[in-house]
Amino acid sequence: MIDFLSSILDALVAVTLIWAILRALKNLFRGPAQTFVGAGKSRSPAHPAAGGQMVRDPVCGMFVSTELSHRLQEDGKTVYFCSEKCLESYQKSATNA
Ligand SMILES: [Zn+2]
Repeated sequence: MIDFLSSILDALVAVTLIWAILRALKNLFRGPAQTFVGAGKSRSPAHPAAGGQMVRDPVCGMFVSTELSHRLQEDGKTVYFCSEKCLESYQKSATNA
């Protein structure tokens, strides 16, 4: 009987844990996109909370938002850059190689 009770307790703890994790995940997916958009200048540029998707700038390696970055269409796909400088140097290295 005590075994039975403690296994119920274990199950409850597991359910509570899963519920808490799911809740945290939901907040993660919901929160950031809204808080950043239009928000401003003082945030660190590497902060992953910007609107859109975070993608890697192939030149300097920093992460940029697909909504805020400089873009280049190449072979049907889009490449994203943190700045015009990175875009230019990418184009140069592409034509040289
Ligand atoms: Zn860059």
